[in-house]
Amino acid sequence: MKAVLSIGTNLGDRLRNIDDAVNSLERVPKLRVLEVSPIYETEPWGYAEQDNFFNCAVTVETELSPSALLGACLGIEAALGRVRKIKFGPRIIDIDILLYEGFASDTEELTVPHKFIFERDFVLVPLHDLFPSGTALGFDFSEAYKKTDLTKLKMIKS
Ligand code: ADP
Ligand code: MG
Repeated sequence: MKAVLSIGTNLGDRLRNIDDAVNSLERVPKLRVLEVSPIYETEPWGYAEQDNFFNCAVTVETELSPSALLGACLGIEAALGRVRKIKFGPRIIDIDILLYEGFASDTEELTVPHKFIFERDFVLVPLHDLFPSGTALGFDFSEAYKKTDLTKLKMIKS
């Protein structure tokens, strides 16, 4: 199955953190990284008193179930040294599941499609880089993408 992940970081060497996360994903059994979007610098969301984030989106092909994929993402976050303090606060790495082919869930543990896709330009813009048609794994985000404010995102690496 294909899935799309979102990676964010705003602590330490942010480019390196994203690199480490992608490399870690590549080492997960039963998972292949297909494509990594450009990386954008974006303003914090939800909690303003912190440094800017670097964000990107990643398409993967995996035989892992959605919950096993979530476990892999949380495991990589822990391995890279993430400590949870403030909700929406500073983090060395955040790896979220945006979409998983043919799957939807609405529990606290796993909400897919991710509950904030439409609200977050830092998700919509890299998602559009990966899926310029405006539909990703059957999920139509084209209307929300039209409303994004591209002036707030700075491309750091293509
Ligand atoms: P956030 O990503 O919202 O800033 P966290 O990274 O601290 O918050 O994640 C908290 C919990 O959110 C995770 O332990 C996980 O169980 C849950 N969660 C629910 N849906 C998702 C999803 N689509 N991707 C990743 N985590 C999710
Ligand atoms: Mg998260």
